[in-house]
Amino acid sequence: MSSSKVPAGRTTALDAKLFAIQLGVVKATSFDVKCIIIITDSLTAARRAVDASVHSGQTHSLAIVQVLRDFFTNHPDCSIHFWDCPSKAQWSLHFLAHEDTTSTKIAAGCHPATSLDTLRFKSAAACLNAWRTFFAHPSSQGRYFLPLKGGIKNLLQPSYAKGEGWLPFIGKSVTLCARATRAILNHAPIGEFRQRFFPAECTQCPYGHCQVETCRHIFANCYRFAHFPLTDLVPTVKNFVKFLKEHPSAFAFPSQDCPFSEPPEPP
Ligand SMILES: [Zn+2]
Repeated sequence: MSSSKVPAGRTTALDAKLFAIQLGVVKATSFDVKCIIIITDSLTAARRAVDASVHSGQTHSLAIVQVLRDFFTNHPDCSIHFWDCPSKAQWSLHFLAHEDTTSTKIAAGCHPATSLDTLRFKSAAACLNAWRTFFAHPSSQGRYFLPLKGGIKNLLQPSYAKGEGWLPFIGKSVTLCARATRAILNHAPIGEFRQRFFPAECTQCPYGHCQVETCRHIFANCYRFAHFPLTDLVPTVKNFVKFLKEHPSAFAFPSQDCPFSEPPEPP
């Protein structure tokens, strides 16, 4: 039995797992064996181990492929197997190795080896931080911007990954997206907008409920939308989208978005 532990440098977890596979494969092929079993909790790392194309940790993959080429050349009946062992399963041997690895802390030093994905992650985090700092500034967000909560507490923030932010909640409807955008930016066919840009035009709610038809009035106080009002000062994005779906005429240009909608009845 043999074991070794080597610092992987400044890497992502995936890079570190790939490095661990390299250590294991190189060590195993140094013995006279015909079957190698790699037990890992990352099949992505397992796939990368035999992928020689350009990617983070490619040097580890090239080292693995090189020793495996000799391994298979010298032993035609040999094999290598990758077993998927999720960490949460806590299989004893894998759990011990996992605990030993994650509990080991080694000072990075002045010039640690740094993986490509680590640099990408750092760059993306800096970009995201800059976006959110810029977004939080009142002069860039604008005082008419509608804040929305993503969950119970947190405000929605700009993001770069997986379409996060506002759009995943809105879905694929172009019309709904347009109405949501108008409401969020307060750039909509409502009295408050006309008051700012077309002060000579009528600013009242079509029902005459108020002198200036504001977003807040539409969300919480207008009889037209009383079926599902949005009373929270900072609503959740889910309730906001539900409000728009419940009221197809909200923030819509009747001729464009609701061609079949009826004009408002007189009060
Ligand atoms: Zn009204």
